[in-house]
Amino acid sequence: MKTATDHLSLRDVSVSFGGFQAISGLSLDVNSGELRCLIGPNGAGKTTALDLICGKTRVTSGEIRFKGEAIHTLKEYQIARVGIGRKFQVPSVFRELTVRENLNIGQSRNTGVLANLVRFGASHDDEEIERLAVLVGLQDDLDLAAGHLSHGQTQWLEIALILAQNPTLILMDEPTAGMTAQETGKTAELFNRLRGEHTLIVVEHDMGFVRDIAETISVMHQGKLLAEGSLEEVSSDPRVKEAYLGT
Ligand code: ADP
Repeated sequence: MKTATDHLSLRDVSVSFGGFQAISGLSLDVNSGELRCLIGPNGAGKTTALDLICGKTRVTSGEIRFKGEAIHTLKEYQIARVGIGRKFQVPSVFRELTVRENLNIGQSRNTGVLANLVRFGASHDDEEIERLAVLVGLQDDLDLAAGHLSHGQTQWLEIALILAQNPTLILMDEPTAGMTAQETGKTAELFNRLRGEHTLIVVEHDMGFVRDIAETISVMHQGKLLAEGSLEEVSSDPRVKEAYLGT
């Protein structure tokens, strides 16, 4: 089953919560360097699909492979170590610390010197911190307390903290929720810079944003994959129209 393009593959994955089947028979392939959007009506199973990939939720049946290795049996922290990062909707930045200090801590997690940072205030790779800040557009805010950032800037800092872990695959759940139109536009530019070097799976409701970033879109409905293709292809698919109108 191991092929060069099989970067992430879900095979016939199902998950039940009690008697309720939230995902049933989901198969999905995402290639290395791809930016895949996952869309679908509320309750379709999109967040649950991300939870399964990062190990937050265990599959009931089926398998998930990343770079050819089965990961559905691993624990969440082990999955993070194989190079899968997850951005949740609620940011986990330290609001009282500066952007630079947050990035210092993010880096320390990666290099394993967090304990040293706490004990001795260890120094870090300032060039890498600068690079991450420039990448997410926070280079002028490095000495600002994270609590003073706008909502969009806080989300970008959160993304930089995930990038500091050097993940191959990044899972993003509604990254533009609550952002202004301008922040959403900047986030699209950021994602277009990240694609290629990282693989991204983005759950998103904002179709304008999806149009700006996605090549391939996977549409979920009632725990299943309903359609896959370009935005034009999936939006003209009668099954997709029906799924959205029916909710
Ligand atoms: P989406 O992200 O597409 O809106 P979700 O993945 O959040 O959908 O949810 C899919 C379905 O699974 C929903 O009906 C939701 O209520 C249900 N669900 C998700 N997580 C749990 C859970 N931990 N326990 C019970 N039901 C859940």
